Amino acid sequence: LRNVSKVYRRGMQSLVVLESISFDIVKGEFLALMGPSGSGKSTLLNLIAGIDTVDGGTISVDGIDIATLSESDLARWRSAHVGFIFQFYNLIPVLTAFENVELPLLLTSLSRKERKEHVETALLVVGLADRMEHYPSQLSGGQQQRVAIARAIVTDPTIIVADEPTGDLDRVSAQEILDLLDRLNADSGKTIIMVTHDPRAAEKAHVIRHLDKGELQDVHP
Ligand code: ATP
Ligand code: MG
Repeated sequence: LRNVSKVYRRGMQSLVVLESISFDIVKGEFLALMGPSGSGKSTLLNLIAGIDTVDGGTISVDGIDIATLSESDLARWRSAHVGFIFQFYNLIPVLTAFENVELPLLLTSLSRKERKEHVETALLVVGLADRMEHYPSQLSGGQQQRVAIARAIVTDPTIIVADEPTGDLDRVSAQEILDLLDRLNADSGKTIIMVTHDPRAAEKAHVIRHLDKGELQDVHP
């Protein structure tokens, strides 16, 4: 990221949320992004993931400024390289765990049989092979978040973006999620960019960056 800024405008009012943010994320890094509520952490994640666009500066991935991609190229890049995990899981309630995890694959050219194999592998990785036909309402919070992680990794993305993935979980379930993210980073080499308020969550990270009033301050664990 180089001199990235973001301004939200509404009518005559404008709010500068990020002001000239610059830093590098190294492939394979586990980055924790911390900071007070409203400091722009989710905004920054959305920019990095290409869901929202910068008002100044550039975000480059593998040397390509993502702002120069067409909408369809950006969508293709995102579905191939980025997996998302949210605080409140964002599972579809009327779909089973299997069907939720299968969703990102419906946009690919994989056959039904290949999709099934990928979904089963992802659910095995998160330890939910025996919960495939359960609906979200039949799963605990920690299990729902693990389904969400399976959905995020089913396309084998290089980057996992997580916005307060343990924010809604008890201590034990939160630890399970962190251990899982740690494993995906250490064993599968996934780059992890995680927003968190939890100092224990941040302990897993290689690098911690603090965001405050639109500016960055570096702290290394
Ligand atoms: P939290 O820890 O509470 O999740 P955050 O650091 O993730 O906070 P953001 O969600 O990035 O904060 O929001 C930063 C600021 O930008 C807030 O003041 C928020 O009200 C504002 N904001 C966020 N999204 C929009 C939007 N789409 N339109 C206008 N303002 C927005
Ligand atoms: Mg947020």
